[in-house]
Amino acid sequence: MGKMHLNVGTIGHVDHGKTTLTSAITKVMAALHGGRARSLEQIDSTPEERMRGITINLAHVEYESMTRHYAHIDCPGHADYVKNMITGASQMDGAIVLVDGSQGAQEQTREHVLLAKQVGVKHVVVFVNKTDIADPELLELVVLEVQDLLAANGYEGSPVVKGSALQAIQAVDEGTALKVGPGKPGTSGDPRTIAIRELVEAMDTHFPDPQRDYAAPFLLPIEDVFTIEGRGTVVTGRVDRGVLPVGATVEIIGLTDDGKSRAVVVTGIQSFHKDRPEARAGENVGLLLRGVKRDEVVRGQVVSIPGSIQPHIEGEAELYILTAKEGGRHTPFGTGYAPQFFFGTTDVTGTLDVPGDIAQPGDHTRVNFRLQHAIAVEPGMRFSLREGKRTVGAGVILTVR
Ligand code: GDP
Ligand code: MG
Repeated sequence: MGKMHLNVGTIGHVDHGKTTLTSAITKVMAALHGGRARSLEQIDSTPEERMRGITINLAHVEYESMTRHYAHIDCPGHADYVKNMITGASQMDGAIVLVDGSQGAQEQTREHVLLAKQVGVKHVVVFVNKTDIADPELLELVVLEVQDLLAANGYEGSPVVKGSALQAIQAVDEGTALKVGPGKPGTSGDPRTIAIRELVEAMDTHFPDPQRDYAAPFLLPIEDVFTIEGRGTVVTGRVDRGVLPVGATVEIIGLTDDGKSRAVVVTGIQSFHKDRPEARAGENVGLLLRGVKRDEVVRGQVVSIPGSIQPHIEGEAELYILTAKEGGRHTPFGTGYAPQFFFGTTDVTGTLDVPGDIAQPGDHTRVNFRLQHAIAVEPGMRFSLREGKRTVGAGVILTVR
């Protein structure tokens, strides 16, 4: 068995040392466990990536701990963090909240922590940086303040590690990182690297292994519909979560004119052209539906356990509005604006209610929305907004009504 893989990233205020810490982790872990050390310059010269039409600068680096393989994202600018979190370009299993110990939490620290919570980052660890220049008494206040900020956002009990990312890099560059004496990892070697090892140990223990959700109620977004001669109608897609046995009763939800869903029995399950006794999270399957005609189901509906998910018409979302340079609008819009919403395989028209009644290209803002048809949306789901063929925004659902 290979090492467990996790996606993580640094978040926090500009100039607090996120890129320096990212480089320090790669260097210290490369010295301990192999892999590539990355300099600041390598991390900061990040290529532009396009995600649903949105330009995001994301630096991907990798490193290994004793037990895990981490893919780590560091964004150069504040706007990149906001876009990354809203679009889910990198879905983080855990985040490192970095705070400059000589400054304390700042505006972007708060904003990133709030966004992380909104988009479903479940666990964070804290690195209080720049201990080499921070006043020790102030440092203790900074730790307390960060713990308060995290608790206020539902991240109570997150581990806090203090250290200097810059000094850890210096230790590696001077070749002293591996002066390892006896003792457990994290307590030996050049003292300037200890904080980095403690941080990675905190990630190893505080971020749980990501798991396919087999226990949750079954959910399958329908990607395609076809007919098997003599057997009936089959819907296909990738199982989002849960396990479904043949013979189970399911509901087909969303995109109906009356907003009602219908219950049907799954009489057969296929995966890779083989009959199967059940469909499991992560698998691509076809479900044979009893008594359903070809034109009674459509791409964009979801198959779920009755009562486990509700179609919704209204809710709140966090939205990023593309700039003209990103292919978005040239002009702002206000309340009443009605673009197309694309949720995975579903598209539907919806109306936006904008705070202050104006949203500019480049803004990110919390909006209320109302869809033309009820669909199975849940908090944490991502969508894009389009006008004709043009993508004008990206969002994540915060609440539904
Ligand atoms: P980012 O904007 O959060 O990615 O911050 P950077 O990693 O680019 O660092 C911003 C500045 O802080 C740079 O001048 C770094 O050299 C400096 N810096 C980073 N970590 C430390 C540290 O531990 N101690 C000191 N004294 N400076 C640091
Ligand atoms: Mg940076």
